[in-house]
Amino acid sequence: MTTGVTRRLHGIAASPGVAVGSAYVVDRRKVNIPRRHIAAHEADQEVARLHAAVAAARHQLQQIRERISPEASEHSVILDAHLLMLDDTLLTEQTVEIVRTDLVNAEWALRRTVEKIKDLFDNVGDDYFRERRSDVDFVGERVLRQLMGAPTDIPRPTNLEGPVVLVAHELSPADTAALARSEVLAFVTDVGSSTSHTAIMARALSIPAVVGVADATRLIATGDRLVVDGVRGVITVSPSDADADIASDRGRRYMAFVRSLRANRDEPTQTRDGVRICLRANIELPAEAPVAIDHGADGIGLYRTEFLYVDRREPPSEDEQYETYRSIVETMAPRTVTLRTFDIGGDKFSTAFRLPREMNPALGLRAVRLALREREVFRAQLRAMLRSACHGNVRVMVPMISTVTELRESRAELRKAQEELTRAGVPWKDVPFGIMVETPSAVFMADVLARESAFFSIGTNDLIQYSLATDRGNEHVAHLARSLDPAILRAIAAVSQSARAAGIPCALCGAMAGELFALPLLVGLGVHELSVEPSAVPEIKAALRRIDHHEALSLVGEVAGLSTAEEVEGLVRDRYEVVFADLLASGEVGTFTETGSFVLPELRNLR
Ligand code: PEP
Ligand code: MG
Repeated sequence: MTTGVTRRLHGIAASPGVAVGSAYVVDRRKVNIPRRHIAAHEADQEVARLHAAVAAARHQLQQIRERISPEASEHSVILDAHLLMLDDTLLTEQTVEIVRTDLVNAEWALRRTVEKIKDLFDNVGDDYFRERRSDVDFVGERVLRQLMGAPTDIPRPTNLEGPVVLVAHELSPADTAALARSEVLAFVTDVGSSTSHTAIMARALSIPAVVGVADATRLIATGDRLVVDGVRGVITVSPSDADADIASDRGRRYMAFVRSLRANRDEPTQTRDGVRICLRANIELPAEAPVAIDHGADGIGLYRTEFLYVDRREPPSEDEQYETYRSIVETMAPRTVTLRTFDIGGDKFSTAFRLPREMNPALGLRAVRLALREREVFRAQLRAMLRSACHGNVRVMVPMISTVTELRESRAELRKAQEELTRAGVPWKDVPFGIMVETPSAVFMADVLARESAFFSIGTNDLIQYSLATDRGNEHVAHLARSLDPAILRAIAAVSQSARAAGIPCALCGAMAGELFALPLLVGLGVHELSVEPSAVPEIKAALRRIDHHEALSLVGEVAGLSTAEEVEGLVRDRYEVVFADLLASGEVGTFTETGSFVLPELRNLR
């Protein structure tokens, strides 16, 4: 209900930008499902109804996929995944089985199947995998609506003028894609996370979005005036005219800021005094490769291949993987693509493996440990990677190495994979074979590991978790998980030094690479290859171009004398707050010139 009184709702900033407009609240509540027992002779008819509904849902999704707007076409891969799910025997065969054995109607059987599949995704800490639960829901719901003759698409707003802010409990990728750019100013959803597909799609379309705004659909009514701040994750309902004007101005500034940053995409990534830094992108979907190029990335520093293994009962075949890797490698050529072998287990769940229930999954059968148990699957992946190397510049890395033996055994599998390809007469190319340094034992053994690795990539997300003994998904200990903790800086210093002594590159691909105040320290510590999410590349490049390498070296010297994370953060903030002021404020301190172009503050005025 709306009262006309200004109120603020908080959620997760999922796609940046600021929009002001009228709300259009969409009711996507689930349809009520009838439960009906059927006679044995009716089973065939129910099964036929199910197949017809699946076919109709497939046809509909294909049509949406064809109409998808060009800006989001890279993300049609999400709809492809939903189409695949419709073809997956898991969904239909199980439903048919329930119809035939329990003698219930197709709707009820389908609902039970969907719940079963969702159960598999339950209790998984990782946001990405939790989101896959909703994929099953979206696809199941679409088929259900077909079975019941309920409407499947969002009705277009008829009585509102101009584009609207779409407010929904949850939006499926198909819903998001079906809405043309011109009709929607912003998205607001009750549920979701920054890795939900609504968020990914919204970012691809450059539409501001705030997700996870509990109760948005209850507190906002169609026609309410809204300010959606996708930078801060705040919704203002019924803003005053003055508030709305300020927000519109911030929206314009933000867009100008993003454009001005992206204008640096062809500039070299280097410090102010000319030290080259290699800035690459982390991707999870092949469709992100062109986005990485568009944002000026020097390559892919981490492709999390485990995302190929979700939502399926069998691991992807060697050929399927080869095609996927090849498309990324060809898109990025001649830039380097770093393919990481699957990192499954821990909080990363896959139905493609029979994983044991573990008391301590983060310390359990994860990543290289699982790969060395499932050696056939591991080698199929390595073969696909070696084949893809014929099409560009590939390097391969293994996650979660905690002993030198694991590295040696992984390399032995690589050799076997090469022999297998040679025997089969399949073309392949050798690749630099490196490791992720993300366990304390790998830090202690870095000098030895460096002699047997082609490169290092420091995974700070896990290195922080394991070094400070803080679960990366546990909000109760999040205050301990600080990248500028002296313990973490010492670990990075040791790894970087071992890499330098052995003459191998040392990269860093954890979230720390995207933290502005970590950058001067990383540069000073000799970590000159960084990898961040594609959309962060322009901002990080802009920051790196303002850092002086000599100053960074002396900052590292000063920090060495400090004892706590707070002290380090305080010192770096003191030195760089002004240098990064506009980046920290997402462009709010930039100015428009008389000709209407937007300029970032001049560095010399800031220092
Ligand atoms: C890391 O641990 O820092 C990393 C990049 O890997 P992931 O986040 O996929 O575990
Ligand atoms: Mg990791």
